[in-house]
Amino acid sequence: MYAINHAATALLIKKKQPTASMFLLLVSVQLMEVLWVIFNYLGWEHFSVLDGEMHLDFLPYSHSVFSGLVAAFISFVIINWGYNNRKLAIAFSIGVFSHIIIDMIFHEKDIRLSPFSETPVWGWGIIDHPLLNFVLELMYGIFCWWYFKGNKNLLIVIVVFNIMDLPLMLGHGDMLKPLEQYPYILPSFILFQILNTWYFIWRYSR
Ligand SMILES: [Zn+2]
Repeated sequence: MYAINHAATALLIKKKQPTASMFLLLVSVQLMEVLWVIFNYLGWEHFSVLDGEMHLDFLPYSHSVFSGLVAAFISFVIINWGYNNRKLAIAFSIGVFSHIIIDMIFHEKDIRLSPFSETPVWGWGIIDHPLLNFVLELMYGIFCWWYFKGNKNLLIVIVVFNIMDLPLMLGHGDMLKPLEQYPYILPSFILFQILNTWYFIWRYSR
């Protein structure tokens, strides 16, 4: 799933737990993606371009069921015992694990049970059908907005960012050459999107 709709998930959690900081909830739903960016820069994880199609390939540390559970647990421990805030601890942990659950639905079969697993076992592959992917993600983003009872500007942010994802969703063939040649472009672009969607969702959900 693309950055804007992971970010929109924070709206669902915020609605259920209004006292939780929106900024922290936005961090929680993208924590695993931020790790993916860092691990790609470090060369611990990588994507590939094969026959003009992009594949996320190797992301067992940032995107496995086990990593999601561990990250959610550590977050819970830090916030619950370190900061004595059980409500935020639960909300933040749910945010962290939501990322893996949602990616298991949208990704290709590239998600492992744990970093120690031989092969990936999850991913329904919706991403392989760009238009279906676009429609489902847009509907999900709008659902989050509706559930949150957001204002008009927040809806515009969600719709516009979804539309801006179309080039990457539809990108294939020679268009992906630069990404293949310069492997830091994709993680940098994803990081840029994460930061942008954090800001705009935070700003217009207040
Ligand atoms: Zn992800």
